[in-house]
Amino acid sequence: AFYTRQLEVVLVGLENSGKTTLMNVLASGHPVDTVPTIGLNVKMIKRGGVQMKCWDIGGQAQYRGEWGRYTRGCDVIVYVVDAHAEEKAALARRELHRLLEDEELASTPLLVLANKVDLEPHMSEDQIIRELNLDYVTANPWILIPISALKVINIDQVLQWLVKQSR
Ligand code: GDP
Repeated sequence: AFYTRQLEVVLVGLENSGKTTLMNVLASGHPVDTVPTIGLNVKMIKRGGVQMKCWDIGGQAQYRGEWGRYTRGCDVIVYVVDAHAEEKAALARRELHRLLEDEELASTPLLVLANKVDLEPHMSEDQIIRELNLDYVTANPWILIPISALKVINIDQVLQWLVKQSR
């Protein structure tokens, strides 16, 4: 198996950022299970030692209380941003920082994925760091990787980073 240890990954981002596409790529074509739950549409994949839970963030304030159930015990947060949607960056910033307020996630490593870099124009890495206020994220070790889930760009790098976290 690619992974030797159990790794719990929470994958979040605004609707339409590309989470489902990424899940499908990471699961290498295996269908993504949808867990019926009130309010949150949670998708889950398991591959090797990795369990990944995925849901949309934002526009569902009333269900924020449910997040804890899915973030508990998670080893890694993957935050997907649509790099082609500058107009949504402010919302993405607010939702990211709101998520990180959760005590459970206080020092959990954060992987920010700037998705859709196959599209022009797209925000540069510096721009994403600024727009998301990543320099203010000091408690969580974070890294930013530009990707295209659709065109499978830099997905190897994502997998390699995830593997490192499981050691
Ligand atoms: P989710 O709502 O976060 O799960 O987003 P989806 O995975 O459903 O993707 C939303 C839309 O963006 C779909 O039309 C995808 O085909 C498209 N999309 C996702 N990733 C990429 C990408 O890397 N490049 C491009 N061009 N489109 C993408």
